[in-house]
Amino acid sequence: MRRLPPCFQCGDPVLDLRGQDIVLPTYYLRPPPSPPDEEVLDAQAYGYAHLRCFVGSRWGPLWAARTRENMEGVRHFPVVLESDDLVLLRHEVLSTRDTIAIGSDGYYASFADDGIRARRPTPGGALIPVRHELNLEVTGRGAFADEIVGALRQGRSFPLLGLIDGLGLRRRLWSEAAVADGRLEPRPDVEDDDDGELWIEAIADYHKFVPDDILDQVLEVSPVLR
Ligand SMILES: [Zn+2]
Repeated sequence: MRRLPPCFQCGDPVLDLRGQDIVLPTYYLRPPPSPPDEEVLDAQAYGYAHLRCFVGSRWGPLWAARTRENMEGVRHFPVVLESDDLVLLRHEVLSTRDTIAIGSDGYYASFADDGIRARRPTPGGALIPVRHELNLEVTGRGAFADEIVGALRQGRSFPLLGLIDGLGLRRRLWSEAAVADGRLEPRPDVEDDDDGELWIEAIADYHKFVPDDILDQVLEVSPVLR
């Protein structure tokens, strides 16, 4: 479990929501001497960011290049499509069947084949179901946090937008449609330890947005999905 990290661009909290946020690890960077990478370190332009703040920023192109170098050169994911502004790589190991999209502007997303199959259309693209555990410390964040934790403790779900709005993050969203009907659901395994800290321990159930132009290219490289 962890505290809410700040976005290195805007300073607001990052919830680490799939398709909305990005994590940029410093081990992707080239070792010195490499001036552009040293500039990233000096500016502390690494770690967590909202996609909305990061994509198209001055750091986007370098991180796009370094992310590709890691996936292709270190992890040996094959490049299956390459254009001026987009690279698609495949990650296939054991039961994993993912397509990873890296835009030259810093855009990053990964789409599991199962998720692509379960998509439903939305204006400009499609929504892919996402479900994962969410553990966030929200001590002292305000009444909304008490309300969410209270609901979860009583076995009730809560709108994900209640958390997003409570933290003032709606303007940081990459896609509002993807979280519009999202829910925080209670987890049966959570213990009620009263140590003075307030934690949201939930299952987050929402969507990931894939724009039409990227979806078309993902379908093109994965004929099995059509
Ligand atoms: Zn931000």
